[in-house]
Amino acid sequence: MRVAFLGLGIMGRPMAANLVKAGNEVAVWNRTPGKTVEGARTAESPADAASGAEVVWMCVSDTRAVEAVLFGAQGVAETIAADAVVVDSSTISPSAEHEFAQRLKAKGVDYVDAPVTGSKVAAESGSLIFMAGGDEAVLAKIEPLFNAMGRQVFHMGETSKGQAAKLVMNLQIALIYEGFAEALTLATKLGVNVEKLLPLIQASMVKSGVVEYKAPFILKRDFTPNFPLRLMLKDIHLALAAAKEARVRLPALETVEEVYEMAAEEGHQDLDYAATLTLLEKWAGIEVKGAA
Ligand code: NAP
Repeated sequence: MRVAFLGLGIMGRPMAANLVKAGNEVAVWNRTPGKTVEGARTAESPADAASGAEVVWMCVSDTRAVEAVLFGAQGVAETIAADAVVVDSSTISPSAEHEFAQRLKAKGVDYVDAPVTGSKVAAESGSLIFMAGGDEAVLAKIEPLFNAMGRQVFHMGETSKGQAAKLVMNLQIALIYEGFAEALTLATKLGVNVEKLLPLIQASMVKSGVVEYKAPFILKRDFTPNFPLRLMLKDIHLALAAAKEARVRLPALETVEEVYEMAAEEGHQDLDYAATLTLLEKWAGIEVKGAA
């Protein structure tokens, strides 16, 4: 397929590389020049990339970035063909996604929101999980592209329901991780060896994929970003905004939002969100340590 891939960040670059590996004809574009993907044409603008493409796939930071790429100067909307499909794997506002889809549908363009779960490692190994919103027939058309980048697609309903599902997934990750980080902090303060605590957690009903994934990084004090804190904070803001629109109260997430805001103020925004632990440690006057 002729695919335009827009946004070569932590996630986008390996996703585009997997599309090339699967034999697609790919044009890539990134806002800041200099990022390329071997085997893909580097386009001058989103409009240039979208010209002649059957599918335009985006993975950029936030709602404003998606709007700029689609409808800004030299945006996708200027050149996209009427029978093309736009797919958005960024995590953005569900209501904004709905509006973007309506604007492009007026031109005859099909629109799928397909945010992902699984971070850098899953993007590199082509094993992402997609949460998709859109028409069944359109999803079927782009199935080979999903297969090139991921291992599973969950169809959540009409366009924008993928984003809604993504926000409630990250709401849970943020709360589960915060619970784990608070547990490690109190355990350390009470003199419990964290290396002994971990197998207990994973043998009990408290066990979680979040703990399994994050514990080795914490024990190594490795807070390099797999999923940067600034992006998790963006998703917390999105979930709280969606909750406000739906007149739903999320008091635990509101508290976690404050912790993230403070961690960002401490300069941790570009570290992994696991670095919120360092704020709890600072307040407790301890450091969570592994044996190594
Ligand atoms: P990232 O490394 O920060 O990359 C962001 C990309 O968006 C870059 O290519 C950036 O271009 C581009 N961008 C930002 N603002 C833009 C604008 N106004 N116009 C055009 N392009 C713009 O982020 P990422 O980790 O790849 O994440 C991308 C999306 O996937 C986010 O919505 C994130 O929430 C979601 N996601 C990430 C993960 C993860 O583990 N990292 C997991 C699931 C979902 P420049 O190079 O010019 O800055």
